[in-house]
Amino acid sequence: MINLNRRQFLLGSLAASISLALTKPAVAATPRVVVVGGGFAGATAAKYLKLWGANNVEVILVEPNASYISPILSNLVVTGQMSLSSLTFSYTQLLSYGITHEQDSVKTIDKTGKILYLESGKQLTYDRLILAPGMELEAITGLDNNLVPHAWKAGPQTTLLQEQLSAMNAGDTFVMTIPKAPYRCPPGPYERACVVADYLARNKPGSKVIVLDANANIIVEETTFSAQFANYGITYVPNSTVTSVDSTAKSVTVDQNGTPKTYMAKVLNVIPNQTAGQIILDSGLANDSSGKWAMVNPLSYESTAAANIHVIGDSQATSQPKAGHIANSEAKVCALAVLQLLAGGQPYSQPVTNSACYSPLSSTTATWLSGVYRYNATTQTMDLQVVKSAPTPSTQYFSEMRDWAGNLFADTFK
Ligand SMILES: Cc1cc2nc3c(=O)[nH]c(=O)nc-3n(C[C@H](O)[C@H](O)[C@H](O)COP(=O)(O)OP(=O)(O)OC[C@H]3O[C@@H](n4cnc5c(N)ncnc54)[C@H](O)[C@@H]3O)c2cc1C
Repeated sequence: MINLNRRQFLLGSLAASISLALTKPAVAATPRVVVVGGGFAGATAAKYLKLWGANNVEVILVEPNASYISPILSNLVVTGQMSLSSLTFSYTQLLSYGITHEQDSVKTIDKTGKILYLESGKQLTYDRLILAPGMELEAITGLDNNLVPHAWKAGPQTTLLQEQLSAMNAGDTFVMTIPKAPYRCPPGPYERACVVADYLARNKPGSKVIVLDANANIIVEETTFSAQFANYGITYVPNSTVTSVDSTAKSVTVDQNGTPKTYMAKVLNVIPNQTAGQIILDSGLANDSSGKWAMVNPLSYESTAAANIHVIGDSQATSQPKAGHIANSEAKVCALAVLQLLAGGQPYSQPVTNSACYSPLSSTTATWLSGVYRYNATTQTMDLQVVKSAPTPSTQYFSEMRDWAGNLFADTFK
């Protein structure tokens, strides 16, 4: 806590000196920063740009929705324990910091002219652009999300999966697939398998849960999730890559080390492989070795493919996970760096970020995983310095999970 307060103090002091630098008469017009996407990354960036830059920066948030629905805790909506409305955050409070909300989507970017073309036909110029569009789900042959939900972006998909689960009969089979890493929220799919199995054990006795994982093993908290899977009697099949889906028949075909195998389900939950947000792909910013994610300089999150464009949150390709808590952390580093750059300075040279994922494992117990990342000037990467996880799942962690999420939601949207 002492370290955090010291860091907050340092960030505050840096921000104060930037405000002063930005007010120098040499700065002709108020610089404009446009933030695209109002999720954990974008909303935080917009808020902290205004908190630290005050009237010396104009901040426009381009986001098509009037409110944000959090994927965090949404597995508890799937099991009926929480409502979607309790995870829905209006942008009203965020805008009170002096941010302008352009309720629209960015269609194309003119990187040279620094112009955004919006779906409505409107154009917006920028001095610096922060892209935070989250992730996109890859297409799968035969997959119709109106019949087979992914529920990996929260909203109607979450409700659909919840309705399908509640309509299951005792003894039915739930099949879910886990995408190849990297994907949004590493523990999330394993967490879902556990809370669904818990729900079925309590409400639909004799039902089965089958987990088909494209990865070779459980990629995080393996000991905890393996124990939970054994406890719930979940069938876990690694090295299972989805090749096609029959959405009407509710069947999925996977490749298991060269052998095709088809699984039938009453409820099928396919979570496809993922890429950076579509606007990142369309703008030629997905320049990592896979061609799916955006490489950035972790000091400022400036794209290595285009000047004056920063990428934060799920879309970025650093060693940091694709998760909401760390997206909030990246956004603060980025907001500060953007203000420093606009003031003619350089970004802070030793950024530290933090990740935390709480996973409910039943209706009353949870586990957690947390990591601290520090910039390594030699390799120019964010190195994992400390990683800790819950020793054993508990009801105390379940209650701490609600406090942690409440703090994150407030810091991002309020
Ligand atoms: C079941 C589940 C559990 C999770 N649990 C945790 C957890 O415990 N801890 C944790 O840290 N993370 C967790 N996550 C992950 C977390 O939700 C995501 O990593 C996080 O939402 C990413 O934030 P983001 O801002 O990058 O993207 P998003 O939250 O997806 O926001 C992107 C925004 O950009 C907008 N947008 C996209 N394209 C455009 C465009 N062209 N123009 C304008 N706007 C656009 C979208 O409308 C959207 O509002 C969980 C996820 C799931 C699914």
